Amino acid sequence: MINENSETILSVKDLHATVDGTEILKGVSLEVKAGEIHAIMGLNGSGKSTFSKVLAGHPDYEVTGGQIHFKEQDIAELEPHDRATAGIFLAFQYPLEIPGVSNRDFLRVAFNAHRKAKGEDEMDVFDFDDLIDEKLEVVKMDAAFLDRSVNEGFSGGEKKRNEILQMALLEPALSILDETDSGLDIDALKTVANGVNQLTTPDNAVVMITHYQRLLNYIVPDYVHVMADGRIITTGGKELAERLENEGYEGVLTEYTVEGVA
Ligand code: ADP
Ligand code: MG
Repeated sequence: MINENSETILSVKDLHATVDGTEILKGVSLEVKAGEIHAIMGLNGSGKSTFSKVLAGHPDYEVTGGQIHFKEQDIAELEPHDRATAGIFLAFQYPLEIPGVSNRDFLRVAFNAHRKAKGEDEMDVFDFDDLIDEKLEVVKMDAAFLDRSVNEGFSGGEKKRNEILQMALLEPALSILDETDSGLDIDALKTVANGVNQLTTPDNAVVMITHYQRLLNYIVPDYVHVMADGRIITTGGKELAERLENEGYEGVLTEYTVEGVA
C-alpha cells in the first residue's frame, strides 16, 4: 500500500552492471518504500534476472556505476550473505538443488545465521521444528518436504513454494521474487500468491519480477515497471500490466523507448 511517509527500503539510482564485460544494466533507477509491492515486467532478455542478482550481490555481476541503498545503507560492496542477513531475500527464477542437505537443516542454518547477525541466540532444534510447522501452513506444504534434500526432485511448483517457505521463515524487509509464477499451475499459483500476501506487512516490501500479468491478478502491485534493454522505460499502476496483457509488449516498448537509446 502506498504511504508517502513510509521508510524507503530500497533506493537504486542509475545502476549499471556488466557480466563478463558486457553491459546488461544500463541505468536502472527504482525507489521502494515499506508497505509497497512493485512488479517489474519485461520480455525475456531485458535484464530482469540480472537486476535481481545484482541486488542480491551475485559475484558474476560487476556494478560499474550508480548506487544501491538498502535502508539508507550503501550495500554495493556488501557480500551476498551480509545482504541476506541485512534483510534482502531473493527467490531465484531457477532454485538450486542441494543434494545431501535436508531442507530442514538448510532452513535452520539459514534462520540461525540471520538470528546471529542480529545478535540473537540460535534457536534450538525443538523450537525450530515448532516454528517451521507454523510456516509450512503459509505455503500449504507437507512436512515431508522438510526431510528431503533441498529442492532435489521437487517439481517446479514445489521449488517455488519452498522459496516462499524460506521467505516466511526469514521475514525479510525486501523480498525479490524472480518469476515465482513460472511453471506453476493455477492452484499452485494461488497458493504461492496467497503465501506472499500473508507475508506482506506495512514494514516490508516486495519486488515481483514477472513476464506475465496473471500473477498480478492475485498479488496486486502498487507500481508496475517495464524493463527493456537494461532500463526501466516506464512505470504505472496495475493498469499498465493489464495493457501489456491485452496488447503485448510491442506498443509499450515503441511508445517509451527513446530513439537512439535502446
Ligand atoms: P531476463 O531475466 O529479463 O530474461 P536476464 O537478466 O536473464 O534477462 O538477461 C539479460 C541479458 O543478459 C540477456 O541478453 C542475456 O543473454 C544476458 N546475460 C545474462 N547472463 C549472461 C552471462 N553470464 N554472459 C553474457 N550475457 C549474459
Ligand atoms: Mg529472468
